[in-house]
Amino acid sequence: MSSPAVTYARQNQPRFLDELKALLRIPSVSTLPENKGDCRRTAEALASELTCIGMENARLIETEGHPLVYADWLHAQAKPGAPADRSSSAGWKPTALFYGHYDVQPTDPLEEWLSPPFEPVVRDGNLYARGAADDKGQVWAQIKALESLMASNGKLPLNVRLLFEGDEEVGGEGIAQFVASKPPELKADFALISDTELFAPGLPTLCVGLRGMIYTELEVHGARSDLHSGMYGGAAPNPFMALAQMLARLKDEDGRILIPGFYDDIIPPSPEELQAWRSLPFDEEQYRISEVGSRTLVGEPGYSVLERTWARPTLDVHGIPGGFTGAGAKTVIPAKALAKVSMRLVPGMKPAKIFALYKAYAEKIAPAGVDVEVRLISAGDPCLIPVDNRYIQAATRALKEVWGRETVFIRSGGSVPIVGDFARHLGIPSVMMGFGLPDDNIHAPNEKFHLRNFELGIESIMRFLEEAGR
Ligand SMILES: [Zn+2]
Repeated sequence: MSSPAVTYARQNQPRFLDELKALLRIPSVSTLPENKGDCRRTAEALASELTCIGMENARLIETEGHPLVYADWLHAQAKPGAPADRSSSAGWKPTALFYGHYDVQPTDPLEEWLSPPFEPVVRDGNLYARGAADDKGQVWAQIKALESLMASNGKLPLNVRLLFEGDEEVGGEGIAQFVASKPPELKADFALISDTELFAPGLPTLCVGLRGMIYTELEVHGARSDLHSGMYGGAAPNPFMALAQMLARLKDEDGRILIPGFYDDIIPPSPEELQAWRSLPFDEEQYRISEVGSRTLVGEPGYSVLERTWARPTLDVHGIPGGFTGAGAKTVIPAKALAKVSMRLVPGMKPAKIFALYKAYAEKIAPAGVDVEVRLISAGDPCLIPVDNRYIQAATRALKEVWGRETVFIRSGGSVPIVGDFARHLGIPSVMMGFGLPDDNIHAPNEKFHLRNFELGIESIMRFLEEAGR
C-alpha cells in the first residue's frame, strides 16, 4: 500500500511517537481525585491537537466527571451544506464517529514496573507506559491517520466527528448521558472504536460481538437483629446459610444456570462463525496455564472455551460482604447477608426479562425463615454487528491490504457499553478496530504498545476511511 498519506505517515513516524510520549507523560488516572487536573490537561492537549491538524469546532464538553473532547470535519459532501441524502445524491459521503478514551487505570503495584509508568520508553520494539495501548496510543493512531490524510490531500475521504472521553475506566457515566441526549454533534453513520486488540500478533481482527450483563445484589434477611448463636442457634434462621443454599441453586456443577427460562431467547452463533472460531490460533491448555492458572477449566460441557466465553451466558458471584469477618471468634448469627451476583448475557437475551426471571426464581427458592430482596445495580444489552454491514466490509478490505492477511471476526466476553449506547441512541453500528495485543498488560504493570501496531494502525485507519468513503 502506498499513497501520499502513507508516505507522509511513514516519514513522520518518529515525530508521531514523540508526541505520543508527551501525551503519555500526563498521568490522567480518572479514578484518582489528585489527577483531576491532569485529566483536564490531557483533554485540552487533545482538543488543541485536533485544531492543529485541521479539525474544526474542537472543544471540551463538560460532564459530571472529566470533560469529553469533541471535534469534527464535515466537508466531504458533494454539495457543502446540502442535507445528506443517500438515495438522490451521488456525491453523498458517510460520517464516521471516532471514539477513544484518554483516561488511564491506576499504576499500582508500582514496584512491579520495570520503568516508571509515566516516563514512556521504547524497549524491544514496544512503547512502555500506562495508557500506551489502553487507550492513548490508539487514540493517537486515529488522530495521526487524520493528520496524514489532511496534510497530504487537503481533505478527508468522508465526514468525521470525534468524541473522546475521560471516564471510561470509571464507568463512562458522562458520555452515556451525552449520547443518550442524542445531540446533533453525534449525527453519524457508523462509529470507529479503537480500544480493542488483535486476536494474535499480526492477525488483523475485528470484534463484532459483545456480551451484555446485569449486575445485582441479593440480600437475605433473617432475625430482626444480630443474635448470639449459643442462645439462638438451632432456632433462629441464618441468612448466610440461606444465601449459600440459594447461590448453590443458581448454577449447577456443570456450569448450567438453573433459572427457569434463562436460555430461552439465545441466538446461537452460525455454523460459519463457529467454524471460523475453530480455525483461530487458540490452545485451550495454553490458555488454562498462562491466563487462568487453575487446575482445570470449568463450564458447560459440549462448548469450546471461545464459545463459553463469547457466545454463552454465565453467572458469577463477586463477593459476600457482611457478618463477622474480624480476627478470632465472634458467635453471631447475623441478621442479614448479601451477595453481589452478575450475569453475562449473549445476543437474544434481554436484561430486563432476565432480571425478572432471576428475581422470581430467587424469591421462590428462598429457604424458610428468611426474606429476600433482589436489586438491579446496572444492566447492558449484548450486541452483535452483522459482518455483511458495509462498514465492516470496508474495514475488512482495508485490514487485509495493510496486514496482508484475511481479517478474523471475533467476539468479546466483556462489555463495551459505548457500543450499546451508540446502537440504542444513535442507531449506528460500531466498527471495533483496535491494535493492542493480548499480552499488552493493560490495567497491569508494564503496559506496552507494540510500535509496529501503532504504525500499521495508522495505515489501517487511513485505508479504512478511504474504503468507507468510496
Ligand atoms: Zn480502554
